[in-house]
Amino acid sequence: MIGRVFGYVSQRVPSLLYRVSLTMKPQVVFVLGGPGAGKGTQCSRIVENYNYTHLSAGDLLRAERAREESEFGQLIANYIKEGKIVPVEITINLLRKAMEETMQQDEKKFRFLIDGFPRNEDNLEGWNTVMDSKADVKFVLFFDCSNEVCIDRCLERGKVSGRTDDNRESLEKRIQTYLQSTRPIIALYEKLGKVRTVDASRSVDEVFGDVKAILDKEG
Ligand code: UDP
Ligand code: MG
Repeated sequence: MIGRVFGYVSQRVPSLLYRVSLTMKPQVVFVLGGPGAGKGTQCSRIVENYNYTHLSAGDLLRAERAREESEFGQLIANYIKEGKIVPVEITINLLRKAMEETMQQDEKKFRFLIDGFPRNEDNLEGWNTVMDSKADVKFVLFFDCSNEVCIDRCLERGKVSGRTDDNRESLEKRIQTYLQSTRPIIALYEKLGKVRTVDASRSVDEVFGDVKAILDKEG
């Protein structure tokens, strides 16, 4: 009887450990800043140097917009062009799916940079409802950049990006949305001591120097 119990235990222990590592809680860094602040660029640099997976909420929405069977394609297209924020039910499902798929493919990939989210109260509520118990938000990486620099960069990018919102008209709206809806979210995390701010108006290398210092310290 005892032998059987021990046999059972020794067989079970490895698979139990394996399962624990599979269900490692995702560690999340929210990456925020105005349109054109350099979130995507800096996230790519982070991925090259650290063990993070980059998920851009905007990229996920654009992919969903392009998916033929999607019932949300037109809605997403309208929101993006108008610089408005898509209802969180859509965005949070895309993010959750992307996180789950990443972790299913490789259980060691549990660190995520979530770029361009949460952008407003609706986004934050959606995150808290669906993901708060499932993931730990370590901190917010905030790329601080003047509106003028943001607009100039997006207009420059607009020459080649093919994005429907890198034009002056959409940009005015995106900046308004950022100031009215996203800055308060950053302020909220600031109160919790969770914001790490980088001066993002400098060159990519200079900004990344500061980003590295933060990540080396915070892990
Ligand atoms: N967007 C959204 N919810 C999100 C992220 C993006 O509705 O969580 C939409 C919004 O209309 C935004 C656009 O996608 O203006 C582009 O976002 P992206 O993050 O790609 O722009 P960036 O800030 O990087 O220039
Ligand atoms: Mg981006």
